[in-house]
Parts: sequence; C-alpha cells; structure tokens
Amino acid sequence: MGEYIHASEWKALKKIDAHIHIVPDAVHRANPDAQDVWRHADVHRYREIMSENNIERAVIMPLNDPFLMSMEFTAEAVHRELATIKAAFPGQFYAFADVDVRSSAADTLDALRRAADEYCLDGIKLHPNNSGMAADSDYNNAVFAFAEERGIPVAIHSYPDTEDDVSAARRIVRIAGRYPALKLIVCHMGAMQWKELLPLGCLVDLSAILPVYVRTCGIAATREIVHAFGARRLLFATDYPDSHILQSHEIYPTYFEILGQMQFTQAEAERIAYANARALFDGRRAADAPMPVER
Ligand SMILES: [Zn+2]
Repeated sequence: MGEYIHASEWKALKKIDAHIHIVPDAVHRANPDAQDVWRHADVHRYREIMSENNIERAVIMPLNDPFLMSMEFTAEAVHRELATIKAAFPGQFYAFADVDVRSSAADTLDALRRAADEYCLDGIKLHPNNSGMAADSDYNNAVFAFAEERGIPVAIHSYPDTEDDVSAARRIVRIAGRYPALKLIVCHMGAMQWKELLPLGCLVDLSAILPVYVRTCGIAATREIVHAFGARRLLFATDYPDSHILQSHEIYPTYFEILGQMQFTQAEAERIAYANARALFDGRRAADAPMPVER
C-alpha cells in the first residue's frame, strides 16, 4: 500500500519542531554548574541541532515557571527574553507567552496583551501541572476568552495521571466546548487520555509522548493512535531537551525512527512536519498585519 516515508526521510524533511525548550543565556550564566536537563536547552547548541536535523524553525515553550526562564522571575521578563532570542535569529523561532499564576488575572491579561502586541510572541502556554492552576479554572477562562478573540494559539500541557488531574483530558474537552473558536494545541496528546480528545477540533503535539506510547503500547498501537487523529491534527514536536525516558541526544533520532514506522505518506508527513504549524502561525500574522497606508 502506497509509499510511506521512512526514518531517513523524516530527518531530511523540512520541519518545524512545535515544542522545544530554550533557557535564556542569562539564566545559563547565573547557573554555571547546573547539571539538570535544562543545561542542554541552549540556543547556540540547539541551532546546530536544527541544521543537523533540517528543523527550519522551532517553537520555544515557557514553563509557567519564571524562575527557570529569567533572572527577574516575572512573566514580563520571560517575554522580553523570548523576544530577544527571536530577534537574534530571525525566522528561526516562534515563542509562546508565559503565565505566572502568582499575578492577578488582570495583570496576567495585561502581560499577555503586551506579549502579543509589543513582544510579538506567537501564542500562550499553559502548564497546569507546573502552575497548580487547573486547565479549566476561572483564572484561565479570561486567558482563553482573550486568545479566542485575538486568534492567538493556546498550547496546554496535558500529561495527566488521573481523571481529576489539573491537566486531565476532560478539562480540555470542557475548554473546547466553552471556546469553540479557540486555536487549541494539546501538548503531549493528553498522554494516556488521548481518546477523549478525538471528538475535538484541537491540534495535538507529539512532544514527549511519542516514544512513551511506543514503549508502553508498541509500534502497532502507536500507529493506531496517531492515525486516529490524522495528519491534519498532528504537530511534529519533541519537547527537546526534556524526556522522561531518553537522553537529550537520543530524542531526534528516536523520533525519526518511530515516525518512519508510522506509515505516513509524503503529503501527510509534510503536513505533520511543517504545514500545520506554518498555517497556525502565518494565518494569525496575516490577520494581524496592519492595513497598508495609502500615500
Ligand atoms: Zn515541554
């Protein structure tokens, strides 16, 4: 049946990694002896990895933990750092805005407005398990209403352990029902609760979870999961450099190895690797572009 593309072709394909982590240089400089995984989240090393793996662009996700992403420990400072990285390497990075739940909802909305309008960030990241704020909380409703109205993508970390987890799939289902026009990305595909996301229109990113599906369910069952969503809803994404089960340097080879066994056609692979993400961001940019001034 058909011509499926294999691991080496996945590596060669032009890609956007829709979920990675970069820790700003200032944070690295302040923590020279850090031994955790974030020492690999370095923009200079990561750009080499991008060119080795044909990753044209990558989406930098914050972690709703300003202590990891700035030396001032505020969402505003994180947004400034992200805008600085984007400006230093034009056309190579998208970046999502951070949310610091220690701030009031009104202050968070102000920060998100500036993130979009002044820092030109490309979306909003919610990480319920880091912030402790349930995905479908009233606090987040204000964020969703703002994002829906402005056409700004929102990525929600969803790697729940229980039905009641702060990032549980049923909470995402509730959000999608309340904000039907929201551009919603569910990170990690809702992990083992993925089935509950199938009836929604959201995109899902393959980050962190793809190798976990293979390890826990096997290749054939993983293939069924990704095809249940279909190429129009999947985003190539890794969570580099973070992984529960892989060393940072194993992440890209492992992703290509697995994707090469998922039986995607060339057209499907191009969508997953690049076109879906490009449409998400460029659609927004076109809509936001100022009207041309007549002379
Ligand atoms: Zn992540």
